[in-house]
Amino acid sequence: MHEGVIITKHIRKSIVYYFSVLTIFLIIVIACAEDIQNIDEVDNNIKSTGNVSLIVLGTVQDAGSPHAGCTKDCCADLFESPDKKRMVVSLGLTDKKNRKTYLFEATPDLPRQMKSLNTLAPFMQQETPNGIFLTHAHIGHYTGLMYLGKESMSAKSVPVYTMPKMKSFLENNGPWDQLIALKNIEVQPIDNEVELMLTSSLKVKSITVPHRDEYSETVGYVISGPNKSALFIPDIDKWEKWDKDIIDEIAKVNYAFLDATFFDGEEINNRDISQIPHPFVIESMAKFESLPADQKAKIYFTHLNHTNPLLNPNSEKTKIVLENGFNIARLNQVFDL
Ligand SMILES: [Zn+2]
Ligand SMILES: [Zn+2]
Ligand SMILES: [Zn+2]
Repeated sequence: MHEGVIITKHIRKSIVYYFSVLTIFLIIVIACAEDIQNIDEVDNNIKSTGNVSLIVLGTVQDAGSPHAGCTKDCCADLFESPDKKRMVVSLGLTDKKNRKTYLFEATPDLPRQMKSLNTLAPFMQQETPNGIFLTHAHIGHYTGLMYLGKESMSAKSVPVYTMPKMKSFLENNGPWDQLIALKNIEVQPIDNEVELMLTSSLKVKSITVPHRDEYSETVGYVISGPNKSALFIPDIDKWEKWDKDIIDEIAKVNYAFLDATFFDGEEINNRDISQIPHPFVIESMAKFESLPADQKAKIYFTHLNHTNPLLNPNSEKTKIVLENGFNIARLNQVFDL
């Protein structure tokens, strides 16, 4: 009897023990499965089939998300638990045949973005891209150059393509002038609307756009591969302030990554949106409303402010944009050009 109780207790203990082990094992398996699923998602996204590919390396406005000093709901949880998918606006380009990569913008997230670009370019023998194209001298678009300097990786002569005012800004201000002096970067001048042949299958052309030009001019880029092309305008004042018609420019390309900093006036406490120098998503959607579906589908909204509900793939505003036939740029999307 006494022994029986001990045996029963022993069996009970063993059962509890095995169940505990099993539970822990299952938890680990499920956790790993989630990780693998995430890695798979990323990997599936980061596969390119064509010779020349464009990859979305970031979609957030200059200051990122969470945004310094933000006390609103949009960033409340993100200081503690950052969302890895929220990186500052950037595009990458790979040319398999010619074994080259290019980066558009040098953002504060440059270390991770250079790595992602190389994931798509296993042929690369070096960590740095074969060239970096800058749009303008606002913090989200060029300050990542600091990671190429002496305190960081001491890169060797990375070509940085810039317009004249941007070039002189880098040459005449620290710490950027030191990057040039130490030959971490080599500034390559480009001119407005002059097409640059980067490789036998890749061309890039800058187009100036109106924006707050305190330190440099601002440009967008047309990037052309052997089959397709993309327009990239991360920052611009209202479409109407441009001497070009955005609708004509969209017609000339296959994809258009466009400034969508704010969705609507709610984000700026219902201030007069006509006074804020960005095309609001609701203004852009109204402007493009009568375009045929194939033109609308070319548009990928990007450069999203921390307050922008389009950062959340499940928000009501995201649904509205997609239902209207437009797209929202998402990290690691790949487009063959
Ligand atoms: Zn910006
Ligand atoms: Zn916020
Ligand atoms: Zn800007």
